[in-house]
Amino acid sequence: MNAFARRGACPALSTPMQTGDGLLARLHTVAGGLPPKALIGLCESALRHGNGIIDVTARGSIQIRGLTPSSARELAREVAVLEIDVRTGVPVETGPLAGIDAQEIADPRPLANEIRAAIEKAGLGARLGPKVSVVVDGGGRLPMDAVLADVRLAACGNPATWHLAIGGTAASARPLGFVEEAQACAATIAILEAIAALGREARARDLDAQRIVAEIPLSGLPAISPTRGENGLGETLSPISVVADAELTPKLLLFPLVGEMAGRPERGNLQAGPTSTPVSMFPLADGTLALGLALPFGSMPAESIIALAQGAIALGAAEIRPALARSLLFPGMSADACGTLRQAAASLGFVTDAADPRLSIVACPGAPACASGKIATRSLAERMAAHHADLLDGSFTLHVSGCAKGCAHPAPTTLTLVGHDLDDHDGGAGIALDATARAPAAEAHVVADAQAGIAHIASLVQDMRHADETVAACLARLGATTVTTAFMQE
Ligand code: SF4
Repeated sequence: MNAFARRGACPALSTPMQTGDGLLARLHTVAGGLPPKALIGLCESALRHGNGIIDVTARGSIQIRGLTPSSARELAREVAVLEIDVRTGVPVETGPLAGIDAQEIADPRPLANEIRAAIEKAGLGARLGPKVSVVVDGGGRLPMDAVLADVRLAACGNPATWHLAIGGTAASARPLGFVEEAQACAATIAILEAIAALGREARARDLDAQRIVAEIPLSGLPAISPTRGENGLGETLSPISVVADAELTPKLLLFPLVGEMAGRPERGNLQAGPTSTPVSMFPLADGTLALGLALPFGSMPAESIIALAQGAIALGAAEIRPALARSLLFPGMSADACGTLRQAAASLGFVTDAADPRLSIVACPGAPACASGKIATRSLAERMAAHHADLLDGSFTLHVSGCAKGCAHPAPTTLTLVGHDLDDHDGGAGIALDATARAPAAEAHVVADAQAGIAHIASLVQDMRHADETVAACLARLGATTVTTAFMQE
């Protein structure tokens, strides 16, 4: 099969993926970020070879759209010249503030590097499917809780021990126990080997967690200890201690899931605990700050990113980190510099306020950028954010999808709008609640004017919402039938 056409593969620079607006190349910096001048060079390459639109994904990857097979090769060549250290092989991800966060429990980078080297040495890259990934989360202000991974290592305790879990987010992964740093790499490789043994289609969810703990030859690991519950929280953890399924996540040591997957994102607050949104300022271990900004719906014209990066250079920024939740982080800044850059970013159209309703909406490129798009998702999303800030209170995610494929958010969301062809209209949209874009409900409940439909829902919520009730709770209380009826109202 043509590498350019292979589905299910991550569209890395060398194997861009076909989309409705040409080929898409995705790159993820190895750790940390890239010099502002390199980001400017990358944006200039995107203007030369693509359609000039840059995405930052929910996992903090950069995407360049609108490529052709030959321009994609040119782009890859120019990225190499820019000396951008692009991740290849099995993703081993650390948090966007790894190694610099003042509240980090442990610097995850040495362990992540050890795991990358061990994966390479074992030749696992060729034996694992393209979506198998590892998260090494040092904790701190921007935890990786909402990021799906096959193997999860999360720092906890003092001195740091690593909580080991497989197949999911922090909330949904199956916990295996705790492992000391010296054995964490071996345990991870053992799990990846077990996945590889099941074939390239396998994921960690296919593994038997009990068999993993009991049977996998965890080379170099001491014997499994009694359960964490039996040990007691105050005791020193053994190198790996089993956590029975029923015990689930040790609540005292792992952060709760926050963000859109939990339907209850926290708003930015410098002094608060872990936050879901990078749109904030974060105190760093060296006494400086990192400013976080988001790209509206994950996309911006390359010219706007160039202008922002030039502003950051003028303010002394040495690095820009693409980060979770479609954001960019600017570490090493003073408070004054953060304020100046934030103002410049706002005037360029970036999201600079954690309460910005655009953060509550996920929208794919849609029409006209994507050939499959039935509706102009981004402009519809902009209008909804502009007119319905009260509805978009941050307690739920509204997914605006150009078609039933649902590229922007494969998981269910509280409200999902899906573009549809209508006989006498250019593009209607259907609605589904607590569902994905593929839900039959989105086919059955279609209106010609989606914006009017959402306005009816906003009006319903305004009338029916209890004091101190979030919109998400109100929608759940009203139920799908009532909300759908409001959407369909003439
Ligand atoms: S979901 Fe959006 S981006 Fe994906 S194919 Fe449909 S219209 Fe295109």
